[in-house]
Amino acid sequence: MIRLDSLRVVFDDHVALQGLDLEIGEGEFFTLLGPSGCGKTTALRSLAGFVEPTSGTVHVDGRDVTRVPSERRGVGMVFQSYALFPSMSVRENIAFGLSVQRVARAEQRERVDRVAEQVGLRPEQLSRGVAELSGGQQQRVAIARALVLQPRILLLDEPLSNLDAKLRVQLRGELQRLQREVGITTVYVTHDQEEALALSDRIAVLSEGRLEQVGTPREIYEQPASAFVCDFIGEATHLSAGQLALLAGSGLDVARDSWVRPEHVSLTTGDGLAGVVRAYAYRGSTTAVELEVSGARMLAEVASADAARLGIDDEVRVRVDVAAVHQYGDAA
Ligand code: ATP
Repeated sequence: MIRLDSLRVVFDDHVALQGLDLEIGEGEFFTLLGPSGCGKTTALRSLAGFVEPTSGTVHVDGRDVTRVPSERRGVGMVFQSYALFPSMSVRENIAFGLSVQRVARAEQRERVDRVAEQVGLRPEQLSRGVAELSGGQQQRVAIARALVLQPRILLLDEPLSNLDAKLRVQLRGELQRLQREVGITTVYVTHDQEEALALSDRIAVLSEGRLEQVGTPREIYEQPASAFVCDFIGEATHLSAGQLALLAGSGLDVARDSWVRPEHVSLTTGDGLAGVVRAYAYRGSTTAVELEVSGARMLAEVASADAARLGIDDEVRVRVDVAAVHQYGDAA
């Protein structure tokens, strides 16, 4: 439904996107994920029609919309700041685009009521001023204001980042439910990998204006295509030359760039690498244990029941699940 071909965006002398190719399917919840400055907002704004690409094309439903103005692309956008009108009521904010389009009053009322219900706003909240609402409720108003225009595509730029952690998780669930219900193709921008993994049908990981990987959350987490993705998504330890030397003979290609996730490092009472506990962080059911192995850091995820007896500077035996080690680059 959406296709970006060789999309390149240059600001002055800064290359924000270096030729991005992406395809997004109808009804997908698609996320652009990457660290600050990787170009994800620029990609979203190019799709919205707020940024004119230096070269490359944007297609929606097979139509080239690269030079089509934003208001004729059928996209609705929700910004990080919500960009609501503080002096207007909730109803007036949601109806704003309908007023601009000179939709009849009665139809405006009906459409606002319907969309307000969809996003979980109560009827009595519609007459309030938006300034009286909590951050979470304001976010619902911003989404309602976009949806009321019945766009083909919903674009969301870090819509949850101004909320506290608990509310963020709650609204994340609501957003996912709403998107499934409405069935609208959604492109979501975030730098929060946990949020991306929880929400998305598919994720595109960007770094420095380039695509690193596109895949389902499971593919991205379990089969990271590059060292960048492995390091950026979840946690991973980069194995040092000394650690790899200790693992020689285990079938691992010790000449390659190697990474292991904490859930594949365990403590054992049997044979294992010699390690020392340097720090640990309780996380509820599991505890993250920072180890020193062969003079370098290694992270293990340990059941908290087993971690309870550990102390700083304890000498332990460490087992690495070599079959789960991710390796990149050519063998030397
Ligand atoms: P963030 O999460 O910090 O918003 P991002 O991944 O969304 O980052 P972009 O906002 O797309 O990144 O920016 C990519 C690069 O382009 C950055 O280096 C940014 O400084 C630059 N940039 C973005 N917009 C403009 C602009 N209008 N003029 C000049 N440079 C810009």
